[in-house]
Amino acid sequence: MELTERVTQAADAAVREKGYATAIDVMLGIGWLQPSHVLEWRTRRLPFLESGIQANLSKVSEAMRLFAAWAANAGLQPSIAEYSARTANRERLRFSKSGEAAIEAAWQTHWVSPNLTDAKCARVAARAQKPPDLVVVAARHSDWRCHRCSGTGQLLVMEPPGPACLNCAGLGHLEELPAGDALVTRRARSASKLSAVIVRWSRTRKRYERIGVLVEPAALAKARGRTESNA
Ligand SMILES: [Zn+2]
Repeated sequence: MELTERVTQAADAAVREKGYATAIDVMLGIGWLQPSHVLEWRTRRLPFLESGIQANLSKVSEAMRLFAAWAANAGLQPSIAEYSARTANRERLRFSKSGEAAIEAAWQTHWVSPNLTDAKCARVAARAQKPPDLVVVAARHSDWRCHRCSGTGQLLVMEPPGPACLNCAGLGHLEELPAGDALVTRRARSASKLSAVIVRWSRTRKRYERIGVLVEPAALAKARGRTESNA
């Protein structure tokens, strides 16, 4: 299939699914980027997103150009989103090796469908500005050491120098809520000022899977209480 067609299909699928498309959606859709690379980038294990892309840079810029042309032609509205790291410091993320402003802006542009209702538009915009979830990883081996205190544990936070324990990452006071009860999870997360998503690497599926969340104990108690009193 021609690159134009692959880019168009990927962008179109993203717009149909969520009302807007980004260059990341396109790279994922055409298979040049894997979700695991996006997660590594968002947790700052990749210095810039393009280092995770399985295609040469001239191909990438061609795909970016085709995507922007398609989006403008389809009447989508450009809107720039902030991308910050899913780490405690939430550093601003970089997309390209050069860090050139025009390239960074192209990656940050969300092309929004003109057919969205105003309410949906506002939700899409709010989501783009909302800080991303922190990510905590279930340790695969018990022999890892925290780069700050040399401690260990079942959960770790990936930081650029290496893994950190929950205490050192400032998440030690949070309580674990395994996935399974969507209602309690949603209530606990919305009541918790600080929360994190727990993921585990699946060797068979070759991707990270969400296995639960970390939330403040008070928020968890409140969410469970509310759910029981409704039952
Ligand atoms: Zn530590």
